[in-house]
Amino acid sequence: MTPTAIRNFNADARLEIDWDDDSSSSYSHEILRVKCPCADCRGHTPEQAKIITGKEDVSVTHLELVGNYALRIEFDDGHNTGLYTFTQLYNEIL
Ligand SMILES: [Zn+2]
Repeated sequence: MTPTAIRNFNADARLEIDWDDDSSSSYSHEILRVKCPCADCRGHTPEQAKIITGKEDVSVTHLELVGNYALRIEFDDGHNTGLYTFTQLYNEIL
């Protein structure tokens, strides 16, 4: 699945993605941040995963496509190591 458009709305703290099957998805910045898939946040086993809280006011400061499979999201708390694959985003299995 490939995005055809990615729109970020900091005023609403939302990210929207249109997909090439004509569907679209919407994510709150808070959910994206607390579900960050990077190794530091997830750990190597479920037991090592961090519970991330207090990100109600986080916002997205930078978006970068990684190859043709993922989106790297940088947040205003300085965290930028999360690669959100299109498969994860499309299926909302963050
Ligand atoms: Zn992370």
